[in-house]
Amino acid sequence: MTTRIKEIFQTGQPDQSVTVQGWVRTKRELKEFTFLEVNDGSSLANLQVILEPTLPDYENVLKTISTGTAIAVSGNLVPSPGKGQNIELKAAEITLYGDCPADYPLQKKRHSFEFLRTIAHLRARTNTLGAVMRVRNACATAIHTFFQEKGFIWVHTPIITANDCEGAGELFTVTSLDLKKPANFAEDFFGKRAYLTVSGQLQAEVMAMALSNVYTFGPTFRAENSNTSRHLAEFWMVEPEMAFCDLEGDQDLAEAFLKYIFKFVLENCPEDLQFFNERIDKTVLSTAENIVNSEFGRITYSEAIELLEKADRQFEFPVEWGVDLQSEHERYLAEELFKKPVIVTNYPKTIKAFYMRLDDSNKTVSAMDILAPKIGEIIGGSQREERLDVLIQRMQEQGMNPDDLWWYLELRRYGSVPHAGFGLGFERLVQFMTGMTNIRDVIPFPRTPLSADF
Ligand code: ATP
Ligand code: MG
Ligand code: MG
Ligand code: MG
Repeated sequence: MTTRIKEIFQTGQPDQSVTVQGWVRTKRELKEFTFLEVNDGSSLANLQVILEPTLPDYENVLKTISTGTAIAVSGNLVPSPGKGQNIELKAAEITLYGDCPADYPLQKKRHSFEFLRTIAHLRARTNTLGAVMRVRNACATAIHTFFQEKGFIWVHTPIITANDCEGAGELFTVTSLDLKKPANFAEDFFGKRAYLTVSGQLQAEVMAMALSNVYTFGPTFRAENSNTSRHLAEFWMVEPEMAFCDLEGDQDLAEAFLKYIFKFVLENCPEDLQFFNERIDKTVLSTAENIVNSEFGRITYSEAIELLEKADRQFEFPVEWGVDLQSEHERYLAEELFKKPVIVTNYPKTIKAFYMRLDDSNKTVSAMDILAPKIGEIIGGSQREERLDVLIQRMQEQGMNPDDLWWYLELRRYGSVPHAGFGLGFERLVQFMTGMTNIRDVIPFPRTPLSADF
């Protein structure tokens, strides 16, 4: 039985006999013995291993072990006299799995994130990317426990779909292709048009119209031909959908949801968050505490525009009622004015998707965006249009053919109810949580216009 290194730091006792498996981070040869730092990905901290000359085949073992070597070590835990960890492992037996030649790119020196992106197959072995993956896992776990505790049903919405939910025209098409024959890109999906989903929302609405409270959590795809630090062509989205819910209930749920995730990660990944706070962004811990403990700001779009017009600076994109908020505006509001997340509601109907509920003014819709410091938009949501006639009119206004979404319209014919939901960009959440500045560094294999081979 092997023990994960994280467990050793949590419960390991002197004299306990253990076997660990992992990759050597460093080797330090002294006169009387040799120290190895071993990491198995379970924790940020490396386990210090002591090799003494009495170890069988000591000289040979030393020659073969270098940075990157994969090994198993068995021995007894001993109290550590040095600073830092309180326990270390005295090796009695070493098994070599894979040696690691000197051209291994992850030698001790620090590498830039740009370089690490070119070796996405190895970068999870670094402290930063390892911590990102553990925090990402904790966020995903928190998402499921939050919804499960509240009785939401997890539904699986399709990846291949016939609709452009957002109407933004950022679609990838799906084409069946026999690689043994000459390409015929017109063949499409068995004679029909099909796309990779940009959002699971419309199908989540279907499920909410039967199960009341549901959520979907899966990959979404957008042909974003831009190279920003917050957009990927493939990203994960969490989308709850609630029947019998209005815009206020939607905001309340989204705020409680973000608070829950931050609290969960603070409790479950303290070392990793501490690491991000020390190495990446010194506001990581205070931001997390702030999210858990203070209420989010709440303003309407019209109020947001007024605040932006009064700002003490010129924005690159001028502000006036009717324009969509750009990331510079979003960040100004959250980062500088509110200094915490702020929920902006009731956007002009002309800049939002057809499915959002038309307000009484006829000018705005019951939309909400949650803007986060450093990131900008992290959540986009709305109360959905449940009135069949209004929905058809909105589709026509936006140049859509209502027949294409006949099934979606039927939800309004057969037992329609007020309902609402939102979409959280999972990678933007992980960015916000860790302080990582580029979205490509919070997903194992980033897909962007410039993405590589993986
Ligand atoms: P943005 O204005 O930043 O382009 P959006 O309004 O187009 O975002 P929505 O359609 O509202 O995005 O999607 C819901 C959420 O998904 C967003 O709030 C954001 O967190 C996330 N998101 C959207 N596009 C991307 C992307 N290309 N890469 C990563 N996350 C994204
Ligand atoms: Mg967008
Ligand atoms: Mg937006
Ligand atoms: Mg949006």
